[in-house]
Amino acid sequence: MQVPRQPGRTVALLAVLAALLLAPAAGGVSGGEKGNHAMKPTRNESQWRRLLTPEQYQVLRQKGTEPPFSGRYYHYHAKGVYHCAGCGRALFSSQDKFDSGSGWPSFTRPVQPGAVATRPDHSLGMNRQEVFCPACGGHLGHVFADGPPPTGLRYCINSLALAFQPASSEE
Ligand code: FE
Repeated sequence: MQVPRQPGRTVALLAVLAALLLAPAAGGVSGGEKGNHAMKPTRNESQWRRLLTPEQYQVLRQKGTEPPFSGRYYHYHAKGVYHCAGCGRALFSSQDKFDSGSGWPSFTRPVQPGAVATRPDHSLGMNRQEVFCPACGGHLGHVFADGPPPTGLRYCINSLALAFQPASSEE
């Protein structure tokens, strides 16, 4: 019986795709803070459950939203970079943080173009743009078009999805 060549080709293509998707993005920095883990995008859900606190898991992996005004980074003005609490990718800078009055940490833009990714979110009967981490897929929050200059955008992000790294002598 002849085995068709096609399946092997498909497997090879899938392997290339997987390698592309799982390749660590540049800019990931791991900090010593709890919940800020080195880049390892190949985790399954039970590994995420072990790595994250239950509250972080609910936001990052189940698209939950922390209660407004509850997060540690809402009234937080230290200089530094906010990383993904799931994988350590650099996401936002304190330079772009502003007080939106919303109850969640808010930023006018990511730390660099492409640092975060967005996709439509039609859940809860609303038409929103979800913000997520392109490295680990973790849910971060939403972006709205009612922000201040220079972008007019408001990245409304859960504190639980973030791990802050203070500016060091390097920055
Ligand atoms: Fe991440």
